[in-house]
Amino acid sequence: MTTLLQLRDVTTAYGSIQALFGISLDVAPRQVVTLLGRNGMGKSTIVKTICGMMPSFSGSVRFMDREVLGLPSYKIARMGLGLVPEGRRIFPNLTVRENLVATMGLRSGAPAESRWSVDEVFDLFPRLAERIGNGGNQLSGGEQQMLAIGRALLTNPVLLIFDEATEGLAPLVRAEIWSCIEKVKSRGQAILLIDKNIEHLMRLGDQHYVIEKGHVAWSGTTAGLRAAPHILSEHLSV
Ligand code: ATP
Repeated sequence: MTTLLQLRDVTTAYGSIQALFGISLDVAPRQVVTLLGRNGMGKSTIVKTICGMMPSFSGSVRFMDREVLGLPSYKIARMGLGLVPEGRRIFPNLTVRENLVATMGLRSGAPAESRWSVDEVFDLFPRLAERIGNGGNQLSGGEQQMLAIGRALLTNPVLLIFDEATEGLAPLVRAEIWSCIEKVKSRGQAILLIDKNIEHLMRLGDQHYVIEKGHVAWSGTTAGLRAAPHILSEHLSV
């Protein structure tokens, strides 16, 4: 398979207000692809459309060689789409252990290379092991984010989407989350990464899409982005 995820001319709207105007993008196996853009440009709307949380009235979203537009989120998740959602959305009244096992085994037949164990998640985040019996609502923001990532990994995703995983965290905790994303990448995990930190995105990403008012304003490699400073200044205020 050369492409895990393929969007072609995807459009969508919130009621009568159109938010996406023909988005096309690709994620290949083992690739890290980023969505860049200022606030309100449509990045989270793209994520919601891919995950089946938002209808699209035209275009195509193919995941694992299958059209997924119109499928409910849980079916797309079972096919191997993992999401670390904006705002974390962990279960506050469940313990760390219960949060982790809640969606475990969603893809029990996953191939070995995309299978994660609880121990591997604890190796990645030793802090979660220390807090295993604590409730989700007793965790710091950083720990909650680690839990959201661990929970997504334990679904054994083929493709993992991080939607603003470092948002609202203290600088030291952010650094920890970036280093974890790097470790996940080093296992060959395909990732779609949305964040505001352009330097980290350029360091980790293989391919980048700059989103402007619901369109792809530019796409290319990190070298291409570094060679086009006007893209950064025009679309990203860098
Ligand atoms: P941010 O980084 O702030 O999350 P974003 O690039 O992810 O921004 P989106 O959240 O996808 O942007 O928003 C794209 C457009 O859709 C914006 O104009 C926004 O105001 C609008 N929008 C987003 N969510 C809703 C909603 N629930 N109802 C109506 N309009 C919405």
